[in-house]
Amino acid sequence: MNSKLDLVVVGAGIVGLSMAFAAVRRGKTVLIVERNSKAIGASIRNFGFITVSGQKEGQQWERARRSREIWEDVAKEAGIEVLHTGLVMPAYRAEAEAVMEAFLATPMGEDCGRLTPAQALQHVPCIRQDGMRAALWSPHELRVESREALPKIAAWLEQRHGVAFQWNTAVTAIDGTKIVTSRGVIEAQACIVCPGDDFSTLFPERIAAVNPSICSLQMLRVMPDQPIRFGAAVMSDMSYGRYEGFADLAPARALCDRLDSELGEMRSEGIHLISVQSADGSLVVGDSHVYGDAPEPFAKERIDHLVMEAFDQIFDLPSRKVVSRWCGTYASASNPVMIDEPADNVRLVIVTSGSGASTGFALGEQVVEELFA
Ligand SMILES: Cc1cc2nc3c(=O)[nH]c(=O)nc-3n(C[C@H](O)[C@H](O)[C@H](O)COP(=O)(O)OP(=O)(O)OC[C@H]3O[C@@H](n4cnc5c(N)ncnc54)[C@H](O)[C@@H]3O)c2cc1C
Repeated sequence: MNSKLDLVVVGAGIVGLSMAFAAVRRGKTVLIVERNSKAIGASIRNFGFITVSGQKEGQQWERARRSREIWEDVAKEAGIEVLHTGLVMPAYRAEAEAVMEAFLATPMGEDCGRLTPAQALQHVPCIRQDGMRAALWSPHELRVESREALPKIAAWLEQRHGVAFQWNTAVTAIDGTKIVTSRGVIEAQACIVCPGDDFSTLFPERIAAVNPSICSLQMLRVMPDQPIRFGAAVMSDMSYGRYEGFADLAPARALCDRLDSELGEMRSEGIHLISVQSADGSLVVGDSHVYGDAPEPFAKERIDHLVMEAFDQIFDLPSRKVVSRWCGTYASASNPVMIDEPADNVRLVIVTSGSGASTGFALGEQVVEELFA
């Protein structure tokens, strides 16, 4: 194995790929070591929803803005289709409208605007107008099909930027410049560990210090009977009470109280509605959030039912069928990101807030710049 490597990245999810991209842009030689034969973790199970509005104010929101810029370039260069842009977020409750207005008054709302129900309908033809007070329009968001985008980014990094990949190889220990793997030892100047929600293989005691949990989510793919074209991603009242960029605003307290009293079961399963569209016209719909110290192995039909109930509250699309279901997990902790230095020239990077697709590229720039300063 190459003894002149500048950097070994552990993990070929979006966070690992982002670290590798930032490093090759600085002229570094990079090898990515991945336990599986391809990425199969959170990075290919998500919505592919690159979200800016709703990210926590400050560094997270800044990272999402920067990542979105990079995504746009990467998508063009790697041949990834951007399926739609922007976000429509209707407010059906007065309390949700108050959060929307408070958001629009912050610097984060600067490029965003307020839509009438009729304008929202122009973006998303089946959105329910009855009871809608207004909708937020955010221009920032991008939607890609992650299960196709991830392999394309990996192939593009390999072919265009010379990143090497070692698949089917687990890293079991890191000792100075020696990276011990299930297939031998690799020497490199530096190493960035991006293990996703594997808390037990590398630096378990450092990870335990942030008291992480595993968030398990249920997702569905829904096919409308009649062709319909979404012009943007859609979220709902519940998302105003969940995403910190909205939920940290003062009026969100009253919204959460109302949602708790009206939607108790949905709220206790951590359900909030996100819907985005795929190239074949199907809609990716989710999600739920259950936290624990291990991934939830058994999907609950009741949760899927509640997600579709939330879907029917927003969309007038009675003739559709669920064509696929899957579960996903991600690391969760009180801070949105863990960046640690467990040894000289080694960094441990875990997105602990379910936002790695939206923030990974900027995080890559930040970590790599500091590591090779
Ligand atoms: C259902 C769902 C929906 C989501 N929706 C969104 C969304 O719309 N927008 C958004 O921004 N985020 C979303 N997220 C969150 C986002 O997907 C994650 O934050 C992100 O994918 C984390 O990327 P990662 O590279 O850290 O983890 P992963 O994708 O899990 O990759 C980690 C990789 O490291 C490998 N690995 C671990 N340890 C080792 C080792 N010792 N040796 C070798 N390989 C190792 C694993 O095999 C794995 O491939 C969602 C997540 C889920 C589950």
